[in-house]
Amino acid sequence: MRKEQKTAPAPVVALYRYAHKRSGRFTGGITYRVKASDWTPTNRHTYDVTLFRGNATSCTCPARGKCKHKEAMESNEQARRDNAPLNGNAPFSLLNKRAS
Ligand SMILES: [Zn+2]
Repeated sequence: MRKEQKTAPAPVVALYRYAHKRSGRFTGGITYRVKASDWTPTNRHTYDVTLFRGNATSCTCPARGKCKHKEAMESNEQARRDNAPLNGNAPFSLLNKRAS
């Protein structure tokens, strides 16, 4: 079923993505800095969304519970995982190179 959209919701724009590391090792935590809906070049209002293993655990916006920033960054992380180069059933090229 096609969903009709009366007004397109403003997409959440991520400015930065930080991978949390401790002693050089990735801890599973990611923080995104996203533009607030009232962001303008002269009012650079941002929020920080933190995810742990793909689940958004916090956002610094005033909303309680599941806000649009958390949802947007969770789907962003999911998309990154789906597009990761080692994902899928691609042939392992190193074996082919050695065989030749
Ligand atoms: Zn939020």
